[in-house]
Amino acid sequence: MEIKPLPAEFYSPFLSDIAKERKPSPIRGLYPLESRPGLISLLAGKPNSSTFPLTSIQLKSRSPTDPSQETTIEVSGKGLAEGLQYGPTAGLPSLCEWVYGLQEKVHGRQKGEGWRVSIGSGSQDVIYKAVMSIVNPGDSVLVESPAYAGVLPMFQALHCDLIEVETDAHGISSESLRKVLESWPSSKQKPKVLYTVPYGCNPTGMTATAERRREVLTLARSHNFLILEDDPYYYLYYGDSPRPPSYFALEREYPEVGRVLRFDSLSKILSSGIRIGFVSGPEPLLTAIDMHTAVASLQTPSLTQTITFALLDSWGYDAFITHTESVSAFYRSKRDVFEAGMQKHLATLADWTPPESGMFYWFKLLLGPDQDDSESVIRTNALEKGVLALPGTVFLPRGGKTAYVRASFSLLDEDDVDKALKRLKEAIIDARGD
Ligand code: PMP
Repeated sequence: MEIKPLPAEFYSPFLSDIAKERKPSPIRGLYPLESRPGLISLLAGKPNSSTFPLTSIQLKSRSPTDPSQETTIEVSGKGLAEGLQYGPTAGLPSLCEWVYGLQEKVHGRQKGEGWRVSIGSGSQDVIYKAVMSIVNPGDSVLVESPAYAGVLPMFQALHCDLIEVETDAHGISSESLRKVLESWPSSKQKPKVLYTVPYGCNPTGMTATAERRREVLTLARSHNFLILEDDPYYYLYYGDSPRPPSYFALEREYPEVGRVLRFDSLSKILSSGIRIGFVSGPEPLLTAIDMHTAVASLQTPSLTQTITFALLDSWGYDAFITHTESVSAFYRSKRDVFEAGMQKHLATLADWTPPESGMFYWFKLLLGPDQDDSESVIRTNALEKGVLALPGTVFLPRGGKTAYVRASFSLLDEDDVDKALKRLKEAIIDARGD
């Protein structure tokens, strides 16, 4: 099917006032001209990298296909000079090209079809800039509930009216979204954006089905909003059924594309400290994000991008996918250990659905008849017993009480899982007073 991107004018009403006020950097905007053959550039205040003391960086990495093999990658010469120098706002061309190739391979989206990418300091960085580029103070925003606690403060600081969309074991509820939209008061400005984490949601661990995703995309068209697809757990999917397509992939089924801003992260699969994430989406929104970057930090560090690219390029896409499969298999076995612990200790004290992606368990404490809040059980009883988890309230967009708890199982061995859940069991029994 021929892909038809939405026209640039479509995005004007979606840009925040601050995004409309931003002007392209007078210097950075001219960077691309520097590569014109024969041109002598007197443009940028770039330091001369021959004065920098680093001469080479040696990386050693485990081979994704044979973990007993260690590969050495040397970054020096031109590659290192690029990593030590200022670079383009959207990211180093080599890493951006690698991302285009990945998005085509994984999501079937081809470069040059009205979208592009920008590299961020982790996905958090580009999510924040996207929010600031779209949302005005006081706007209504559609947010799945519960939602990633790291995104809520962005909206709260803008005094947004957070409209909660329910979620269940099949991810975001398109039915709840439909109800919200169909009962929207005519006097109130319609929401421009929906925020969702479609795989292994933080905090619920749930993965949205393909059917739900299609319904959400259909609603996005009929009610004219954009989808912020925050997907750091995509590559951690370990469910038994075939993996559902991303929103970014699914929107190709619609007459025109361009409602999805997709956020990927290398934090869970390469390194969280390297701080590399990327956003893929319509050109006008990416331009707004880049203009934010240009004033906030000029760019994501060149050196981390260089190191990331050197590693990924030495692997190739197939080895990258092999690596992500072994990472997801690792978390699947952690999930299995945690599930066994939950069955052993909390079978009658909590309700839950085992996650199919990511690193979180989200479970409801079965407390006494008048107890509907996990807050004091977790912050007092559990802590006294020597176990720390997160009370579910921190994930509620509009606050309130909940008997849910988030537990992260990424770091624990079998022994610690057993101890932690035994302690939690004792804490719940204490709180119930039975
Ligand atoms: N979104 C979600 C749902 C997350 O769980 C996280 C990490 N906790 C992020 C975004 C930020 O990830 P990154 O390290 O790529 O900034």
